[in-house]
This record gives sequence, C-alpha cells and structure tokens, in this order.
Amino acid sequence: MRNGLSKDLIARVLGAAPKYTLDELEAKFPARNLPEGAMVTRFAPSPTGYMHLGGLYGSLIDCKLAMQSGGVFMLRIEDTDTKREVKDAVDVIIKSLDKFGLKYNDMPEYGPYYQSQRKDIYHSVAAYLLEKGLAYPCFLKPEDMEEIRKQQTAAGFATGIYGEWARDRNISDEEIIAHLDNGEIPTIRLYSNGNPEMRIFCKDAVRGSISFPENNEDTVLIKSNDRLPTYHFAHLCDDHFMRTTHVVRGEEWLSSFPLHIQMFRMMGWVPPLYIHTSTIDKIDAETGKQRKLSKRHDPEANVAFFLQAGWPTESVIEYLGNIAASGYEEAKTKGQVKSFWDYEMRPKKIPMSGSLFDMKKLEWWAKEYIATMSVPDLVKSVVDWAGVYGNEDNKKQIADIDYLTSVLSIERDNPKRIRKDFITWQQTLNEVSYFWDFLFVPNKEYEYNKDVLREFLATFNANDDKDIWWNKIVAVAEKCGIKPGDVAMNLRVAMTGRTNTPDLYSLMQVLGGERVIERINMVL
Ligand code: GLU
Repeated sequence: MRNGLSKDLIARVLGAAPKYTLDELEAKFPARNLPEGAMVTRFAPSPTGYMHLGGLYGSLIDCKLAMQSGGVFMLRIEDTDTKREVKDAVDVIIKSLDKFGLKYNDMPEYGPYYQSQRKDIYHSVAAYLLEKGLAYPCFLKPEDMEEIRKQQTAAGFATGIYGEWARDRNISDEEIIAHLDNGEIPTIRLYSNGNPEMRIFCKDAVRGSISFPENNEDTVLIKSNDRLPTYHFAHLCDDHFMRTTHVVRGEEWLSSFPLHIQMFRMMGWVPPLYIHTSTIDKIDAETGKQRKLSKRHDPEANVAFFLQAGWPTESVIEYLGNIAASGYEEAKTKGQVKSFWDYEMRPKKIPMSGSLFDMKKLEWWAKEYIATMSVPDLVKSVVDWAGVYGNEDNKKQIADIDYLTSVLSIERDNPKRIRKDFITWQQTLNEVSYFWDFLFVPNKEYEYNKDVLREFLATFNANDDKDIWWNKIVAVAEKCGIKPGDVAMNLRVAMTGRTNTPDLYSLMQVLGGERVIERINMVL
C-alpha cells in the first residue's frame, strides 16, 4: 500500500470532489429485495452498431436465468469508449433484443443504465481507492509508455506498467501537484498488490475454480482523456452496485478474470458468480474445420442477417437455447415442454468449449417452429417480413391477404400432419410462388400425357368435393389405362410446374376453377 491522497488532492486529481462516499453508495443501491435464488443478470454491450450472434446467445442466457429464477435482467450500455461510438448503435441493440423477444426490466433505482451517465459513481469509488492508497494518479505520456515498452522488449521482460516499471507508483504529493499545476490530467491506476509468482483462484459457475498467476499490472481504472472508466473498473463498480448476481460474458474475458477478482477483494466486496461462455462456431466451408463465427466473413455472425432473410426469430432463440442447454431438444421432442422458456436450464451445463451453430440444424428448428404456428400468425409473420425486407414480387404476393391466407392454409388443418417445408418467410413465399400467375413457371420439360389432361378437363367441376374429384381421377385413369397417381402427377405438374407439392386437391381449390382450366389449356 502507498500513502493515500488528501481529500483536496483527490478532488484535483479527479477534476472535482467525489459526490458520494462508499457508505452513501451502499445505501443508494441497497441489496435487492428478491426471493432466495433469484438471479440478477445483465447484458452489457458496447454500442458498436452491430449485434453479434454471440451477444444474442449471452443475452438469451441472461434473460432466461433471470426469468426462471424470478430475478431481474438488465440492459447496461457500455459506452465509455467514446472513440468507438457509432450513431444509432444503441437502437440496433434495443431493436434486436425486442425482435428476438428478450425482455429486460428497467429498474430506475439501480440506474442509470448508460455508463457514460455513471461518472459520479466511478469517481466516488476511485476517490476511495486513492484515499486508501490502493490507486494513484499516473502522468505517464504515450511517449513515456512507448519508451518503457521498448526497454522491456529489449530486456525480455513482459510489457506493461507494473512494479519497477510503473514510474508513478510511488509518486509524492509534491510531484502530483507539480504535474497538475502544469495542466496535466492523470490516468488513475490500480496500485496492484499482486505477485505473479503467487496464484489466485477465481470461481466460474461452469468451469469451477480456475487458478491464475496474480495480477501485478497497475491497470488503468480511469482514463485521462475523458475521465471515464475502463471496462475493468466499470465492471467492478456497476456489477457491485447494480447487485448483479451472475455475470454471463464471453470467454475472451477469462484473461482479465484475476484482475477483476483482485479488485473485488481490494474493495472487500463479494464478487458475482461468473459464467464465461464459449464462442459460437461454424464449420469452415473451405477447410472443413470448426472455427469462430467471424464478423468479417460470416453474414450469420450479425443477428440482422436472420431478420433480413426472414428466419423466425423464435427458432433462432430455440436453437441458441438448445446450445446453452443441450437437454432442451429432448424435452421438447418428448413433448415435456413447449418452448425454451418453459425448460429449466442449469447454469452448470452451459458448454465450455466452442459451440457449433449450424445453419442446417437451424432449418430443423425453423421448420418445427413454423409447424406449430396458427395460420393467422403465419400470415402475419410473412406479411410483416415482406413489408420490410421483401422484394417487389414478395410485396405483390402479400397484396391480397385473403388469397395469401388460403395459400398458407394448405395442409395445416390436421395437427398430426402439418406440412414442414417452410423454413424462412422469404423461402415460404418462394415455396408457394406458383399460386401467383406472374410467378408461375410452367414446366416445359415434363412429358405430359395430354389425353389424360383432356379427359380430366372434360369432366372437371371446380365445385366437386374431394371424393367426387378423386373418383373422376380414377375414372380418367381407367379410361387411359394408367394409374390414378400418374393422372394426379400430370395435373400436379400442369398446376404448379413441380413434381413435389402439398395436397393436390387443396391446392386446386385455392387456385380456383378458372386458373385450373387455364393452366391445363396452357399445356394442351
Ligand atoms: N462491454 C463488454 C463487451 O461487450 C461487456 C462484457 C461483460 O458482459 O461484462 O464485451
């Protein structure tokens, strides 16, 4: 420990006297009044204008753990890196959470939820550390740090501001005053008490206790340019005073885990439980190897991709939920639960190493999900999607809602045999495109039996019920000496251009007598 600074000097170093004492902060943000076992979680994105699939995965875990335990899920905007700020970036995050159905509870008493508005809190905690000699003002300039780095590299030492290399670690009050009088603004650094020869044990809810060398880096707590905190310091203050019980964050934070535990101990605070999630991976098309989803190379790394292509957001959530809680799929297939939200997930079972997000597997979840939708919900989803993301053709397809509704109603009345060929809203509209004359592509390759079509047309009546319609097909088959199935195939291809379609009678009903006659005549 070094000598603490006086109140006056602290005020000068921080630019103003701190607003609160630690006791005042403790009283301002009291322990939460929640039932035993309730988890308090948060999604803490930096507003970069991009929402990564991994961020959606983490926030799903946050939201689910909070909901199933009767706790609270918060959204905290980590906007302390003013250099990286992007316009509308917060909007992207809020809209994505909303679209994927992840609801957070806004609890004003534990806010504000933008870190840029919490300076008073960070400065108050920093003042405490300065007073106790657990932090100090550092006046190293970029060129000083560059020089230190060069010397360290040349001598084969680890780079960084630590121990002997931390020039201002034991800076005197007189020196501080001289720098301040000179108009310099210091960074505030941790006065690290760690010894890298010793080990620190850090508890992760999934990985168990992990031991690391102790941290001896005098990490920056408050930056000099804008006097805002670094991630490390903001995490310490926010997750303590927001009374977070579980920090779900990416495994890239494991390396700073010892620093965070060290800081909690210096403050005498109980750290939250950490859950470091693994990366979301894919199989690389070229190498065939599993690798992390890349923001630069993989469109699906951005959650906006799923919205644009019209994937049911629920199915993305279901699949991500199954990655986080692998028992879910079985419980769902057995009919024990309806959706991921009904499934009790266990934090301990969250995977520790790279989890595969396979688009083929997502298709299965999407088909299953769409199969459970009611026709009005299905129509609404398709219409909503096409209205925003659809092309001109899609927009024409949704113009007549009644017709679209009949088209999408086919093979949805028997709960045991719901069609499972719809995957995305975009693909759904493509799948049924032949119902619109302007999109219908006649099949010119197929070798039609024109006699069959002529015979069928001769007795066709659009008002026939299914039995009569079928009897007529059987009669045509007998007359022409072929199987009824072959008659149906000729009709199917004439109607749709395809050899594989849902129920022929239903689709002819939806097409209507006029179109049926027209399409047969087109072939003839
Ligand atoms: N802002 C950090 C990030 O985006 C948050 C990490 C955390 O959840 O603590 O990675």
